[in-house]
Amino acid sequence: MATLNLVLMGLPGAGKGTQAQKIVDDFNIVHISTGDIFRSAMKNKTTMGLKAQAFIDKGELVPDEVTDGIVKERLSKDDVNDGYMLDGYPRNLEQADALESISSELKRDVNAVINIHVDPEVLVKRLSGRFICKTCGATYHKIYHLPKVEGTCDVCGGHDFYQRDDDKPETVKNRMNVNVKMNTPLVDFYEEKGLLYTVNGEQYIDKVYKEIKQILSNL
Ligand code: ADP
Ligand code: AMP
Repeated sequence: MATLNLVLMGLPGAGKGTQAQKIVDDFNIVHISTGDIFRSAMKNKTTMGLKAQAFIDKGELVPDEVTDGIVKERLSKDDVNDGYMLDGYPRNLEQADALESISSELKRDVNAVINIHVDPEVLVKRLSGRFICKTCGATYHKIYHLPKVEGTCDVCGGHDFYQRDDDKPETVKNRMNVNVKMNTPLVDFYEEKGLLYTVNGEQYIDKVYKEIKQILSNL
């Protein structure tokens, strides 16, 4: 199997983080979530984090020059040698172009794009039930994905969970609008390149993963 350099695409709440956890376990590639990088920077109150926060709180995209810079820096590190999976990036055509340049310069071209497709109306409901482990970032859902032992994270055994500020209904609506607008051109971009694999994300979490695993195993 060739090195896996992947993009995981899907609207907010489509299940990228949930599936990423499983992909990383099975395929041993580095998970790079721009959303996670921003949340960590905001928690640590770095200059970049404070700058990003203003956009994230409104459900807007962080400006491309900031986001592209972060991705370039991350993809330049040695641990990406054996493959990577970008989650939440690119989010618009300008970022997709930037990724073309970055990955080609670093000789780490993307070789597949997994697009998790879910109707936006389903997503608004999903996001209101999302909760996250404070210690390791594992994602759960009040109805669809509870920890095996109540109050205990399956991944790290932690007991503290939180809800993301931007999962509040007012922010979710704007986030969804912003992302829906950008999503179709992005899907078309990767389809034209022959890199796109779309899976139906409105199935059980394990069924979605089974399809993704099948695609990745055949690359
Ligand atoms: P993303 O990273 O794309 O924003 P998440 O992986 O955080 O999405 O998933 C959003 C919410 O939906 C979480 O609460 C998660 O547990 C839940 N979820 C993920 N996949 C599914 C699915 N196939 N069916 C139902 N709920 C799901
Ligand atoms: P996510 O965790 O992917 O849902 O991202 C949370 C928020 O971080 C988004 O609503 C954006 O404000 C910001 N963000 C994450 N990835 C990007 C990106 N590729 N471009 C711009 N903003 C992003």
